[in-house]
Amino acid sequence: MKDILVLGSTGSIGVNTLNVVKMFPHLFRAKILTANSNVGLLEKQISEFKPETVVVREHDAFRRVKERVAGECEILEGDAGLLEVTRRGNYDILLSALVGFAGLAPTVEAIRLGKRIALANKETLVAAGDLINKLSLQYKAEIIPVDSEHSAIFQCLQGEKSSEVEKLIITASGGPFLNKSIENVSVEEALNHPNWKMGAKITIDSASMMNKGLEVIEARWLFGLGKDKIDVVVHPQSIVHSMVQFVDGSVKAQMGLPDMKLPIQYALTYPDRLENKNKRTNFPAISDLTFFSPDIEKFDCLKIAYEAIKEGGTAPCIMNAANEVAVAKFLKGQIGFKQIPALIRTTLEKIENHSDITLEAVFECDAKARELTAALPV
Ligand code: NAD
Ligand code: MG
Repeated sequence: MKDILVLGSTGSIGVNTLNVVKMFPHLFRAKILTANSNVGLLEKQISEFKPETVVVREHDAFRRVKERVAGECEILEGDAGLLEVTRRGNYDILLSALVGFAGLAPTVEAIRLGKRIALANKETLVAAGDLINKLSLQYKAEIIPVDSEHSAIFQCLQGEKSSEVEKLIITASGGPFLNKSIENVSVEEALNHPNWKMGAKITIDSASMMNKGLEVIEARWLFGLGKDKIDVVVHPQSIVHSMVQFVDGSVKAQMGLPDMKLPIQYALTYPDRLENKNKRTNFPAISDLTFFSPDIEKFDCLKIAYEAIKEGGTAPCIMNAANEVAVAKFLKGQIGFKQIPALIRTTLEKIENHSDITLEAVFECDAKARELTAALPV
């Protein structure tokens, strides 16, 4: 029996993780759950999964949970509560599924305890990939990707030598604006992803293709390859989740229906595969599998991400913070869709890049970039 700490249990990945736990009740226990403010869903999860501890980040939500479910489990509050539950170490696997930079600090705590990290929170690697790799080596923590593309690559690499990898090919659905103009798009249109149902922030990132930019950086740190060895190819059907090309020209792909339960399950059960009853791919029913190059002139966020990797140092951290603030502004209707890359570019221009990255420097850099982007005129 493995005990799981689910960071962000009320989110899209969190809910899917609990669905996987439900499929294997004899193997996994959702021992600790955390949520930001979704009290209704958290209460349901408490009564169904009977966690030992829950953390509620927002103060009012914490008070409401405390009034309604007191006695059923331990209830902690805020960022301090998140750090406390990750530091206690009374779990086997951390499922890291907070959204954004907020995921970094608790994930680092679990790495320092040498836990298995099932990593959905890509922003952790974007902001501090080099450091995370050093810490996980030092503390012998295993990082298993949950992001579908990275899980695909990780699966393709099983049994292979890293010296024989020529390049990684990350697939992208292209999002809702693949064949549409990005002039004057509404929040609703940007939230309407064709293939995946996800949280609001990653859905906007998919529409702007910043998500693919973040994923190239994520892949760079997970698999130790430079950006010129990581290609992005648009594949609108989202059946091929990503590929690896080897030095002899052979290409391995991992395929399946777009369903996050599979990569989550694999990150929990790796190196084993367990039988499940999920829907299977019916190839004759898929008439086309198409592939083409992304339009980086139209999707400036992808170009910015490539530039940030090239620049290195704190540039990806600054880019990530500016993107989070810009996306939040877009979701509130304060800026247009095309202002997202514009705000990120201005922020990158205004903040000096540092090459010596410590954890403190990363937190400082993130805070500075957020403050700057928030204050930019729109
Ligand atoms: P979501 O918005 O649906 O859920 C986020 C969860 O984190 C919620 O439980 C929320 O309560 C909690 N949360 C939000 N802000 C918080 C904060 N500041 N402090 C503490 N808790 C907070 O997001 P999601 O779609 O589940 O995505 C989670 C992460 O997984 C993201 O990094 C995303 O990029 C990555 N990811 C998601 C998918 C997907 O299919 N949804 C796929 C690949 C990767
Ligand atoms: Mg992905």
